[in-house]
Amino acid sequence: MSNIASRKVVVLGGSRGIGAALVRRFAGAGDSVVFSYAGSVDAAAALAEETSARAVRVDSADRDALIAAVAAEGPIDVLLVNAGTLAMGDPLTLDPDAIDAMIDVNVRAPYHAAVEAARTMPDNGRILIIGSTNGDRIPFEGGAAYAMTKAATQGMVRGLARDFGARGITVNAIQPGPTDTDMNPATGPMADTMHGFMAIKRHVHAGEIADYAAFLASTSGAMITGSLQTIDGGFSA
Ligand code: NDP
Repeated sequence: MSNIASRKVVVLGGSRGIGAALVRRFAGAGDSVVFSYAGSVDAAAALAEETSARAVRVDSADRDALIAAVAAEGPIDVLLVNAGTLAMGDPLTLDPDAIDAMIDVNVRAPYHAAVEAARTMPDNGRILIIGSTNGDRIPFEGGAAYAMTKAATQGMVRGLARDFGARGITVNAIQPGPTDTDMNPATGPMADTMHGFMAIKRHVHAGEIADYAAFLASTSGAMITGSLQTIDGGFSA
């Protein structure tokens, strides 16, 4: 795995937020980047134009389409699974279909995408899945199912790191804390509450996640595997 590029990098869920920061960071470093999106057609087109990355429309909730899309991009040097959704609220009234849809995107999709990418991934490849600090700590009501999906990421990366380690492939989770995106704006109604749980009382910038992902994907990250890399301003401390 060279730091000099050009590597084939696939970002699942790259049209907005943390995913878009990942696309910008890796494309800016000279990697050949392909990113997926589902609903944000205009944002995806604009980002592709800006970065020269290639955009592919594929819904991560559609398992067979996702597996086919990942297979079509192989061999992939670096797989970044970012796509995620957030369904929060009173578990007694939340729509069970919304919970299952979240599980499809946050749990099933990363697993199947990682396994498919690993089939043809070169030795010393990289698989990074965006989890959440809520996999470790959920200090408010209404987040049980979301926290469950992000705890699933933890077992996933630990196990897959064992499965692919003999080939030098690393598998890790990045666990952001509150990060300023459409999902969780720094000016949103929950911001002050979340800052109250943090040692450094501000939202994470998406670029800070992307910078760390770039480090993990570099040769310097060769022995970091099966790990949970938390970037949360002390939310979970
Ligand atoms: P955003 O809602 O801002 O962006 C989500 C991105 O994921 C979009 O590019 C979206 O694409 C894509 N996406 C969502 N569903 C699908 C799908 N079914 N198929 C393909 N792409 C999809 O979220 P964030 O950037 O904030 O979050 C990114 C990841 O980081 C998620 O996994 C989230 O759980 C995690 N995270 C976020 C935190 C935060 O505070 N923001 C904190 C901790 C973790 P499109 O719009 O085209 O559908």
